[in-house]
Amino acid sequence: MLAGVTFPPDLYRDWRQQSGAALAFRDARRQGAPPERWLQELWAHQRLQRESLRTTENRRVVILHPGFWNHEAGPDFTRAIVQFDDHAPVSGDIEIDLHSSLWKSHGHAQNPAYANVILHVVWEPKEGPPLLPTLALKEQLDGPSDELESWVGGAGEMPVEWLAGQCSAPLRRLPPEAVVELLGQAAMVRLQTKALLFRARGRATGWHQALWEGVFRALGYKHNTWPMQRLAELLPTLRGLPENKADAREVWEARLLGLSGMLPAEPKAGTYGRRLWDLWWRERDALRSNILPEPVWRLNGVRPANHPQRRLALAGTWLADPAWTERIEQWFQSDPQPADAERSLADAMKPTTHGFWKRHYTLAARELPGALPLLGSGRLNDLAVNVVLPWLWARTEAGADPAARQRVENLYRHWSPGEDNAVLKLVKSRLFGEDPLPGKRTAAVQQGLLQIVRDFCGYSNALCDQCSFPALVERHATPEPS
Ligand code: SF4
Repeated sequence: MLAGVTFPPDLYRDWRQQSGAALAFRDARRQGAPPERWLQELWAHQRLQRESLRTTENRRVVILHPGFWNHEAGPDFTRAIVQFDDHAPVSGDIEIDLHSSLWKSHGHAQNPAYANVILHVVWEPKEGPPLLPTLALKEQLDGPSDELESWVGGAGEMPVEWLAGQCSAPLRRLPPEAVVELLGQAAMVRLQTKALLFRARGRATGWHQALWEGVFRALGYKHNTWPMQRLAELLPTLRGLPENKADAREVWEARLLGLSGMLPAEPKAGTYGRRLWDLWWRERDALRSNILPEPVWRLNGVRPANHPQRRLALAGTWLADPAWTERIEQWFQSDPQPADAERSLADAMKPTTHGFWKRHYTLAARELPGALPLLGSGRLNDLAVNVVLPWLWARTEAGADPAARQRVENLYRHWSPGEDNAVLKLVKSRLFGEDPLPGKRTAAVQQGLLQIVRDFCGYSNALCDQCSFPALVERHATPEPS
């Protein structure tokens, strides 16, 4: 409890139970089915048993890209890329419904807007054989539904077009220490919801593979999360290939870039691309059916330093070090203190220097005048807050080690903030106007703000209609002067 403020430790968790996401879920559950919005979230974040998905007609299906969420009329996700059995990947739209019978009863078959749907994603099949390839989620989720219920809305970002929020007035009347506590609690919810994903993947694939997947997703940074996730899923296959005595870093780069489809087909003799190609062609035939199609990558608007080729080169240098994941574990076992933890984690994760990528953005780019690190401090911070700490939290929780879990939480609370992105800038001004936030600026404060966006703003509109957050804050705010 805070001085002068009644503010129990699980307050934000209780508030979350009253948020739009939780209420919608409970309402729909009472009616015997999950809400469609929940299915869309599961699809958007691929909370599925991705390595073993089967359609209702028992065809193997691999989701190379889940598509882009469409909030207008028409199919729910557009421009997805899906591979059935060993056929070439196909690109098209995804429609999500509770039951397969709704394809017919909603009249999608006659609606030209749905002509490009390649996969009908449903909760469960109903009434007769499906009219198009159908994926039923109910038995193919990556965790039990109560675990997924508490995860819902826990990751990803939301659209940014909002005005000043109705919660800003009561928030201003909250004592500063209560604001600090509230954001801290919301941040902890966010850490734990991210950890739920690691727990599910750890259960399905093992802890180290779950870490690699998290690292690859983070390296995909917003636009290329899904192709990066897919490449991470292929790591066990790559590790089973015959040993190659060449430079391990180049072997891994060649594999990742070859599988990504981004290795030029006929690189010029004497170039670095040629060296990688000479390594790749020997393994290419064995991996041919896994090569990603070009449209799976989104390169428009990606800054040169974030180009997927550079990110894969970075992943390649880490994969070439067989002890890399163990070094992350050892870093945590060494009981790093907040004052030094960021520097020591940077040391543990630092990629070995790499001649070519120090001076090139991509394989085809001109040489840069100055050297460029493969891993900048911003990306490292992002990896720590979104991957390493949630992964460690999931592990300490699974290992029933509350003392270690507290150490993770303590590091998380003190971690330095990253740069404010557009969502953070907007939510700050929606919630707090021009006022500076009380307390120290940390990554956890940023994460707490993002969690409020996910739990409340994401289920309301620009006018904050039906958002329960202002009323919840009001209960703890000092009364308005009459
Ligand atoms: S939607 Fe709710 S949480 Fe978001 S700004 Fe409006 S009142 Fe605040």
